[in-house]
Amino acid sequence: MSGGAEFDAIVVGSGAGGGVVAGELAQCGLRVLLLEAGRHLKADDFRRWEVKANHDLFAPTRFAPLAGGDVIAFLGGRCVGGTTTINTKVALRAHEEDIAKWHAATGLTNDEGEAFSRADLDPYYDRVEKLLGVRERSDWGPCVHTVQAGFRALGAELEPVMSYTDPNCMNYGSCLQGCPTGAGKSTMNTYIAWAQERAGLELRTQAQVERVLVEPRGGRLHAAGVEYIDAAGERHQVRARVVVAAAGALATPPLLRRSGLAHPAIGRHIGLHPARLVYGLFDTPQDSHRVYPISAHCMKFQRDADGGFVLEASTVMDPVAFATTIRDADGPLWGDRLVEALRGYRRFAGVLAMVNDDNHASIAIDADGAERIAVDLQPPELARIDAAQRFARDALAAAGARRIYHTGLFSTHTQGGCRMGDDPARAVVDRNGESHEVRGLFVADASLVPRTMSVNPSLTVMALATRIAEHLALRLEQPAHA
Ligand SMILES: Cc1cc2nc3c(=O)[nH]c(=O)nc-3n(C[C@H](O)[C@H](O)[C@H](O)COP(=O)(O)OP(=O)(O)OC[C@H]3O[C@@H](n4cnc5c(N)ncnc54)[C@H](O)[C@@H]3O)c2cc1C
Repeated sequence: MSGGAEFDAIVVGSGAGGGVVAGELAQCGLRVLLLEAGRHLKADDFRRWEVKANHDLFAPTRFAPLAGGDVIAFLGGRCVGGTTTINTKVALRAHEEDIAKWHAATGLTNDEGEAFSRADLDPYYDRVEKLLGVRERSDWGPCVHTVQAGFRALGAELEPVMSYTDPNCMNYGSCLQGCPTGAGKSTMNTYIAWAQERAGLELRTQAQVERVLVEPRGGRLHAAGVEYIDAAGERHQVRARVVVAAAGALATPPLLRRSGLAHPAIGRHIGLHPARLVYGLFDTPQDSHRVYPISAHCMKFQRDADGGFVLEASTVMDPVAFATTIRDADGPLWGDRLVEALRGYRRFAGVLAMVNDDNHASIAIDADGAERIAVDLQPPELARIDAAQRFARDALAAAGARRIYHTGLFSTHTQGGCRMGDDPARAVVDRNGESHEVRGLFVADASLVPRTMSVNPSLTVMALATRIAEHLALRLEQPAHA
């Protein structure tokens, strides 16, 4: 190893991006340290105890103000496996049109210098899908069939999703509290577990990375390691040949800023994939809380030209989140109206409406050191958000719902903030994920994504991470998938 480095690579964050990079590099025989801010909990620890799971597995919810006085909430995991431990595991490849937007945004090309396209990601999608055992979920619960009738009445169709859940899935519906059977594949119970067992991956948990160590070498800046704080509050410095930042779209940009990076695009062009749940109250029990939460979707409006939104069915939030976010045209429910709605909990079916946005959010650190998220949704984005909600409401009404409610907007698919691209003026990192500013500093998480995708992003984040790991393995002079 060079320069007194203890590791070949340090990976910060163990979610969709970091878990894959750490696992792939360790399996190549490289010395890898994976640092994760959260705890290492496993299937045995997972109980459907909503508030405790929020505490143990989620990052504290953050909010950003919206024009007009409302807010948008940001949700994500903080545990080994990151958000893949608590997500719903829908596994979709990005649409060709999604990826075409990337070249336009940052000049991103492939290794041949051509505009980056879906074909450049397909081999990496293949590998991730094979390793995670991605399969179709056509085992719909009755609530999906209820909603399907409404979609059909409006000339649309629900189809089965692909997902990284194996056949041991018992349809408990508790994906967001961690999968108690292990059927849900996170990076925790796949890449990381395999690499710990077979390849000696070193994992340190409750390790909050404060900054990347950056040093001048030969007239350029180089990443030399990281500084982190452990659970006891002790500070540690660890050195490595390369550092991979994979702390997620809302954490990697501030990490780079705290490390002294000055690129103006860090923390900008963040995409939200803004979403809301629309709920229909039916006469008969739907039990939408006791199914695999997202087994169906409607892709008819996926492309911007067709509306720019995707609808997923059928799900309801668990009771605490349900009670604290439900609203109607008059605003959040309270008192008797809230009690009345909650009495009908078993009779709700929900449609998740997710919208293509144009990356008008940002995260910055203010003069007091606090992180501030700003969101500036533009009229075309607001029109898509309204259209998605309207369609979901009409579909539920056509399916026979007596009353319709909804939640506010939230972002579970936050993307961008360290966009990848060939143009150093518009992109923070290059096509291999390496910083244009600091050599040996890589980004390999959702913050890479130059423009919001129309589909759930984790499979693409994992495919991008696999591609970056392949590059890194070659760079560190080891075969990629030995
Ligand atoms: C409720 C929910 C449901 C979802 N469902 C789906 C779905 O069905 N399909 C899909 O494709 N996507 C889904 N997603 C989104 C998907 O899981 C994320 O897009 C993806 O996991 C992002 O990967 P990432 O590597 O960027 O970040 P994450 O997976 O969030 O991982 C980041 C990790 O970095 C750690 N970290 C942060 N800061 C530090 C630090 N300073 N030091 C050390 N560690 C740090 C965090 O604790 C976290 O573990 C869902 C998200 C949510 C919230």
